[in-house]
Amino acid sequence: MSSNTADLNPPPRILLGAGPANVHPRVYQAMMAPILGHLDPDFLHIMDETKSLMRAVFRTQNEETIAVSGTGSAGMEAAVANLIEPGERVVVCVAGFFGDRIAEMASRYGGEVVRVEAEWGRIIEAEAVEAALKAAGRTKLVAIVHSETSTGVHQPLEDIVRLAHEHDALVMVDTVTSLGGCEVAVDDWGLDACHSASQKCLGCPPGTAPLTFSPRAAAALRSRETKVRSWYLDMTLLDNYWGGKRAYHHTAPMTMVYALREGLRLVLEEGLEARISRHLRNGQALWAGLGAMGLTLHAQEEYRLPLITTVRIPEGIEDLKLRRALLYDHNIEIAGGLGILAGKIWRIGLMGVSSSAENVLAVLQALEQELSAQGFRLEKGAGVAVADRVLSEG
Ligand SMILES: *Cc1c(COP(=O)(O)O)cnc(C)c1O
Repeated sequence: MSSNTADLNPPPRILLGAGPANVHPRVYQAMMAPILGHLDPDFLHIMDETKSLMRAVFRTQNEETIAVSGTGSAGMEAAVANLIEPGERVVVCVAGFFGDRIAEMASRYGGEVVRVEAEWGRIIEAEAVEAALKAAGRTKLVAIVHSETSTGVHQPLEDIVRLAHEHDALVMVDTVTSLGGCEVAVDDWGLDACHSASQKCLGCPPGTAPLTFSPRAAAALRSRETKVRSWYLDMTLLDNYWGGKRAYHHTAPMTMVYALREGLRLVLEEGLEARISRHLRNGQALWAGLGAMGLTLHAQEEYRLPLITTVRIPEGIEDLKLRRALLYDHNIEIAGGLGILAGKIWRIGLMGVSSSAENVLAVLQALEQELSAQGFRLEKGAGVAVADRVLSEG
């Protein structure tokens, strides 16, 4: 039987949701390179280069730095699975959907989970972590999300890392959205485990999850009394493929490694500082524009992430109808709220390639039109004009 489907032809959307973001043409180009055997010395060399590039972007010297074959959640699960043994206490900071996911994983791996919670839209206060650590007694790990994509909050880490180390606990940080978009400095900040994902600010398709372990985390791994419960995510086995003996573990998705390598090269070519400034400027322009349209931002003011802006859905506006109109009539994807924020907020991502002045103005223009169509009163052109001013000052 012959196929009766048409040639593949997905529309080239403007991706301003919570990830994936748009992919740089050079990354797509890299993905067309021929695959190699998973133990071909030429491929092993490409893995070594990718490892060096990951280290540079994470700003770490950590030997244990790999790309997990899987999405950001696989990176998260690898960190949890390797660092927690059954019965060990884990303090998990939960101020959004992804903090909650870490807590769920930690309990599945047998951790005694102590949750430190904050309202979804606010940061976790260091005092709350300190109180939990004091009450909890011996704690193996403190886990926290740096850029909570579900709330748009940029979590400060310094005091929490210090407190965790004072209590002799390791620190695991989710930098899925922040890596390549805002400052992440694994060594300077003393992070013990840090995971990310290819499809947010690194500008690649989903499929790989950079993961790095400090020497302290690697030592904890070596002194485990029980085997890591996940075979696929066992860092010791993975590290034997990414370094060490180069022993077969699983067949690396070469194409995705090529993509990650190119995405990381692009990050370093632009320069970490310049890239962070670009994301900040575009985020600030979007905030100003949304404000001028009479909309209210959701995240705590001093702690907003320029990478993902959360904005409250005005009373009387239909969430799905508006997002459908943006998608079909303007070719723009934005995201709705997750968990308890579903139906209450929109999330507008400006990540990687997607973070451009052009996209800021396009999404403001489209929102103005579709909000007006639903009867929301606003001053015509105000959002775009204000954002444009911020952009030209930048
Ligand atoms: C997207 C995201 C994840 C999950 O990544 P997937 O690639 O969807 O598995 C985890 N943490 C944060 C903060 C995220 O934004």
